[in-house]
Amino acid sequence: MIAPTFSYLNEVYFGGSILEQAATVAARHGLYRPLLVTDRTLSDLGIADRAGLGSLPEFADVETNPTESAARSALTLYRAEKCDGLIAIGGGSPIDLAKVVALLVGHDGPLGDYAIHAGGPASIDTAVPSLVAVPTTAGSGSEVGRAALMTLEDGRKVGFLSPKLLPVAAVCDPAVTMTMPALLTAACGMDAISHCVEAIVSSRENPVAGAIARDGLRRGVRHIVQATESAQDLAAKSEMMICALEGGLAFQKGLGAVHSLSHPLGGLKPELHHGTLNGLFLPVVLAFNEGFAKEGFEVIRSETGESDVSAFFARLLEQLGLPSKLSELGVVDSDLVKAAPLAKVDHCTPTNPRPFTEADALALYRSCL
Ligand SMILES: [Zn+2]
Repeated sequence: MIAPTFSYLNEVYFGGSILEQAATVAARHGLYRPLLVTDRTLSDLGIADRAGLGSLPEFADVETNPTESAARSALTLYRAEKCDGLIAIGGGSPIDLAKVVALLVGHDGPLGDYAIHAGGPASIDTAVPSLVAVPTTAGSGSEVGRAALMTLEDGRKVGFLSPKLLPVAAVCDPAVTMTMPALLTAACGMDAISHCVEAIVSSRENPVAGAIARDGLRRGVRHIVQATESAQDLAAKSEMMICALEGGLAFQKGLGAVHSLSHPLGGLKPELHHGTLNGLFLPVVLAFNEGFAKEGFEVIRSETGESDVSAFFARLLEQLGLPSKLSELGVVDSDLVKAAPLAKVDHCTPTNPRPFTEADALALYRSCL
């Protein structure tokens, strides 16, 4: 199958107070009765009313690692309410769930058949309803990405990829992230930074995505501490939201072992936060990849101002108060034995600059225990 070398862009509406324009943006795309997808916390905070979307049918049962069963429940509501598209408000989880609901609207059969590893992208061929994404965290970049991650009924966390899954518009209001708890700001920020780092060293050639990733990394490493420590610093929050957006634009260059290691653990233990895991794996994966992707490493050295980039990120984690060991998160060795074969076949593995085996994955996991 032929795919474009690079492909941009959806509409991005960026700025303080832009949240209030979400309904107008949706209407521009013909969404007059979209299904609102969000999580319980945001729903309780009245986010839909703040966005002028309070009258819409709402699905709020979205967990940290969204599941196929939640997507199917949302689909039932979508059909019962005769919706004409979707608006997702939240972090990567509600946005990814909304993408999968959009996929299910016109695609029958087992959801797993549409996953990347099953050759699914080619069969995502019929119309998919439009989605407007309103990120409330600065992390996943899902608002500008064509991919969605979901845990299937059998427990595997798999990826879906199609230009049809790209939201038609992203409404990015950094003021929304000012209410995020500090540790969540830090964890989401490390997800965004890890997208930039992994895209920079990815084995796939894409100079446009590489340049975007470099800018994202620069903003991320300069502002993540301030954005974490000072919830009211709108300038720092804006920088992190751009970092997240650029990470999302960049990861069409491909990600690597950080994500290969974090995806299976997130599937096996749904309570683990994706960004927290990525932050934790970043130093060991950089040390593992050292000597490969030499140009990419030069870029990371230049943007961090450090020759030992692995040590730089280990220090950053400590400064942010994020965990550096899996045991702190309740992970035990038997979890790692289950996760290692899944990491080897993860869709991010082929673009890690250094090829790795199942035994390498297990060794990397154990070095973090
Ligand atoms: Zn990620």
